[in-house]
Amino acid sequence: MATMPDRFWNEAIETLSPGEVRRLENERLTEQVAYDVATSPFYRAKLDRAGVTADEIRHVEDLARIPFMEKGEVADSQADGTLLGINQCAPLDTIVRIQATGGTTGQPMRIGLTRRDIADYGEVGARALWAMGCRPGDIVFECMNYNLYAGGLSDHLTFETLGAATIPFGVGHSERLLRMMAGLRDPVGIWATPSYAVRLAEVAAQLGIEPRSVGLRRGYFSGEAGLQVPGYRERIQDTWGMVARDQYGTGELGLHSGECEEQNGVHFGGVGIAIAELIDPDSGEVLPFTDGRQGEVVYTSIRRQACPLLRMRSHDLMQVFTEPCPCGRTSFRFRILGRSDDMFIVKGVNVFPLSVQAVLMRLAPRVTGEFRVVIDRPPPIDYPVPLTVEVARDVPTAQHEALAREVATRLQAELNFTAAVTLVGPGTIATEVKTRRVVRTYRGEVVQ
Ligand SMILES: [Zn+2]
Repeated sequence: MATMPDRFWNEAIETLSPGEVRRLENERLTEQVAYDVATSPFYRAKLDRAGVTADEIRHVEDLARIPFMEKGEVADSQADGTLLGINQCAPLDTIVRIQATGGTTGQPMRIGLTRRDIADYGEVGARALWAMGCRPGDIVFECMNYNLYAGGLSDHLTFETLGAATIPFGVGHSERLLRMMAGLRDPVGIWATPSYAVRLAEVAAQLGIEPRSVGLRRGYFSGEAGLQVPGYRERIQDTWGMVARDQYGTGELGLHSGECEEQNGVHFGGVGIAIAELIDPDSGEVLPFTDGRQGEVVYTSIRRQACPLLRMRSHDLMQVFTEPCPCGRTSFRFRILGRSDDMFIVKGVNVFPLSVQAVLMRLAPRVTGEFRVVIDRPPPIDYPVPLTVEVARDVPTAQHEALAREVATRLQAELNFTAAVTLVGPGTIATEVKTRRVVRTYRGEVVQ
């Protein structure tokens, strides 16, 4: 059997020079746009309206001539009962999987995948997971929701593509999960949201199980951006005795970017499959892709058959890093700053949930780092922001009031806004599903 080089999943692609990456992107972009226009009235109309023809889109820079695409417009077009709505570019008899994304308000967007789309999904995911340290022979419990969303079945299959022994566990059976993990002699890994790792430790404590005795040694975390918050990753690692690595993906594009051993941001794993542009979220202007730059990421797929993305807005704000990484991967790295829709503005001050979490972690271990903001009326927010914070089990009730005051004082001092803090018990906020930090109930969003 040939030995597998250990550093990369796909060395040829992951070590391409920036010039080679750009050549590949330009070539595939030209093919993709021609395909989109040939197969879809939606894309023909989009380019027509912008006064552009497909053969004028030959370079990544030409993308700026094409208007953005929003998940909502595709989801709305599916409301009449058509499976994929306006964004179906391949015949149904070549589409073999449907998943959905989004939908905290309104309808989720359905996405179709052909066999080749699925192979690409697996390829890109395997690059990310390999960077995160996953290898054939690893045992991984997949603890995401398998119902509709990419994090379940589709991401599961990227672990299989890589060659890990993957257990489709799903959500909602924490006790059984802990007992099954503990019952295995080999160390195991988990694919979950970071807040589920916090929640699972709480379930273990209630059952009298010492988390470190469970044998959970590797965490592949996604769905929430918490791992980069100082202290949060360390606490999860210490609690379980595990190595925790960060991953980022989107439902429409897939599991595509993972953190290498340098832990200096996640490496974009989508080279040759998708193009990432950075834009100013307010003006829509394309920003130069330079080290340290912040902006909203916009995706264009360049090898999609069923449901391509052409400048799909993610509403995720990121900071990019383009300096070379010691691991040898040449793709850009990034850290997620938050969703532009999760940011809230209090008396003119922009507040990101990740900044709130960072302040809370400085009060650990008295608080768990889990929190939620519920906004029940439309902006402006000119009143104390309702903030619910999980308090640690061993903090006596008599100290809660003082701790709540301390949280509010810290937020005021460090983030410059006033919060109305309510403390709740551990395990109240973090659940098996993705934890939404900011819930706007006035827009119909629900607290899960
Ligand atoms: Zn690296």
